[in-house]
Amino acid sequence: MKKICIAGGGPAGIMAAVFAAKNPQNQIFIFDKGIILNTLLPTGGGRCNLAYDEYNFKELAKFYPRGEKFLYSVFSRFSTKDTLEFFKNIGIKTYVQADSRIFPVSDSAKDVKQALLKQIDKKNIKKVFEKIETITKNGDIFLVKTDKNTYKFDAVIIACGGRGNGQKLAKGLGHTITELKPSLCAMVTKEKDFTAVSGISLKNVRAEVFFENKKIKIPANMLTGDILFTHKGVSGPLVYRISAYCAYLDFNKQKPLKIIFNLTGMDFKDFDDLFLQSLKSEPQKEAVNVLARFLPKNLANAIFCKENINAFQKAGQFTKNDRQKISKSVTALSLNIISVEKGEEIVTAGGVDLKEINPKTMESKLVENLYFCGEVLDIDGLTGGFNLQNCWSTGFIAGNSLSTI
Ligand SMILES: Cc1cc2nc3c(=O)[nH]c(=O)nc-3n(C[C@H](O)[C@H](O)[C@H](O)COP(=O)(O)OP(=O)(O)OC[C@H]3O[C@@H](n4cnc5c(N)ncnc54)[C@H](O)[C@@H]3O)c2cc1C
Repeated sequence: MKKICIAGGGPAGIMAAVFAAKNPQNQIFIFDKGIILNTLLPTGGGRCNLAYDEYNFKELAKFYPRGEKFLYSVFSRFSTKDTLEFFKNIGIKTYVQADSRIFPVSDSAKDVKQALLKQIDKKNIKKVFEKIETITKNGDIFLVKTDKNTYKFDAVIIACGGRGNGQKLAKGLGHTITELKPSLCAMVTKEKDFTAVSGISLKNVRAEVFFENKKIKIPANMLTGDILFTHKGVSGPLVYRISAYCAYLDFNKQKPLKIIFNLTGMDFKDFDDLFLQSLKSEPQKEAVNVLARFLPKNLANAIFCKENINAFQKAGQFTKNDRQKISKSVTALSLNIISVEKGEEIVTAGGVDLKEINPKTMESKLVENLYFCGEVLDIDGLTGGFNLQNCWSTGFIAGNSLSTI
């Protein structure tokens, strides 16, 4: 009989528990300082975007700014197809949305949580609602000290997520922790011209990103998407992606990150020609109302404000210089990013150093019978179901390793 401690009852820990329990000889205890699987509830806006419609493991791994190579091995063992099969087997049917994100048919994260909890209860896995403070190893035995008791285990799986103290527990056992940074975040701009348009979103915006006069290398297909203006700056899927690729850049008020947004996706010349035609066709209209054909009215107003151009002059009297300034602003709106919105990140970049983990088993290369899975690792994905996919895959491998020993 093997006594196994699972530190953290999030998606990764629960997945590990379900598969470790395949071996009836295993006695499994899940420790959680809060409520098991509560972190699943806000995912996908309550709908739980649990995977992404990509079945080639190398292609799938490309969606992870950190962990790509390590995930080749992981995804070759458990990937999208396995995830969907697993969920189907536990009663969660899924569907693929037009943007390739995969959700449960019920569109309910609550249903996913309930189905997973059912598995835990069916397999007689014990739940312990205590916070783990330290883990040490004495000979072959792990001593797990919580805020209430000390327990002995033969094996431990650390699955405390990005914001728990799993990295500290791992460090105590001799592991290296790479620097932790917020990722998938809204961003704060120096410019305040756009606070009045907070809540306005735009589709298919293109972006280019610069830091200290150098263009940041981001895969081209990641640089088109939707943005949302907020009261502090910008957010939305495109901004989240940029935040992930720039997570380790040291930008601030003095050294801002520069994002140039093309709000219409059209090149300057094409847009300027179109804008000119529109101004000519309605010479009596106020210029801002002509621009409002292409952009939401409030945003059109904000652009006139930013350029310090009278929005209410007649289209017929609009000068070439002013028109080109507006066209430039629409096709190359330059915003200075001074920080990310702190505490609002979706994932943590950085974590337990992957060099010290065997991707075939998720076992530590430093400490025998110690395993890791989920966001506690130095793996983070973009938005689209990739972070949960990391949990299902690494959780499966860790649990499965302990069920086959
Ligand atoms: C708002 C929001 C929406 C998201 N939407 C999506 C989405 O749609 N798709 C997607 O793929 N990803 C999404 N993510 C990311 C995804 O939720 C996480 O990557 C995932 O939950 C990580 O799982 P985990 O099991 O590794 O850690 P967690 O989910 O963080 O779970 C860790 C668990 O460990 C417990 N714990 C921590 N420390 C201790 C300790 N010392 N002792 C005992 N217990 C401890 C915690 O209480 C927690 O229950 C979203 C994240 C957020 C914040």
